[in-house]
Amino acid sequence: MRLFVALWPDAELREVVYDSSRKMMPKKDGWQGRLVDKQNLHVTLAFLGTVSFDRVDCIRAAVENIRWQPFTLQLDQLGYWHRPRVAWFGVTQTPEQLTDMVRQLRQGLLHCDFEPEQRAFHPHLTLARKCRPPRSVDLPVVLAEVLNWDVRNLALVSSVTDPAGVRYEVMDQWGPSDA
Ligand code: ATP
Ligand code: MG
Repeated sequence: MRLFVALWPDAELREVVYDSSRKMMPKKDGWQGRLVDKQNLHVTLAFLGTVSFDRVDCIRAAVENIRWQPFTLQLDQLGYWHRPRVAWFGVTQTPEQLTDMVRQLRQGLLHCDFEPEQRAFHPHLTLARKCRPPRSVDLPVVLAEVLNWDVRNLALVSSVTDPAGVRYEVMDQWGPSDA
C-alpha cells in the first residue's frame, strides 16, 4: 500500500478550491499542465510511501495520538515550484497548530520505523502538475479572496494508481483531541 497522512477537504471546500484554481489559472493564460482531480485535492502532512499491512496499526496510533485543537488554514496565495513543476495554493503564515501537528506526527512515526523526515514542512495544496506559469504572472499571486479552511479532520489515505490515473482512498479519519 502507498500511504500518506493529509488534511482532507470536505466536498464544499473542494468546490471552492477547484473553482478558485480555475479562476486563478485560466487555460487561456497558458498554464498548461494537468489539473489535479477535484476529488484528489488535499494537503499532505506526511508521505509514507509503500507500507506493509503490519505497520498500519502503528501509523494509525501515531495519528490518533496527536494532540490538536481545531484551527483555520488561510490559503492566500497561488505559488509554483519549478523543479517538480507543480502549482499550489499555500499560506503566507503557517498556523502554529499545524506546525505542532506535523511535529507530533513526525515524532510518532519514528516509532513505526520511518526514517526521520529531514525536509521542512511547507503546507501546500497541489493544483496542477507538469505545468508552467505564463511569463506574465508574478509569483506567488496573492489571492483576492482568501480560502478559509476550518480544519477538523486528519486523514490516513491510500494512493491507488489504476489505468484511469491516481485515486485516493481515505482509510481513516480523526477529529481534534478532547479538550
Ligand atoms: P502521481 O505520483 O501519480 O503523479 P500523486 O503524486 O498525486 O500522483 P502519490 O505519488 O501517491 O500521488 O503521492 C501522494 C501524496 O504524497 C501527494 O500529495 C504527493 O505530492 C505526496 N508525495 C509523493 N511522494 C512524496 C515524497 N517523496 N515526499 C513527500 N511527499 C510526497
Ligand atoms: Mg507522486
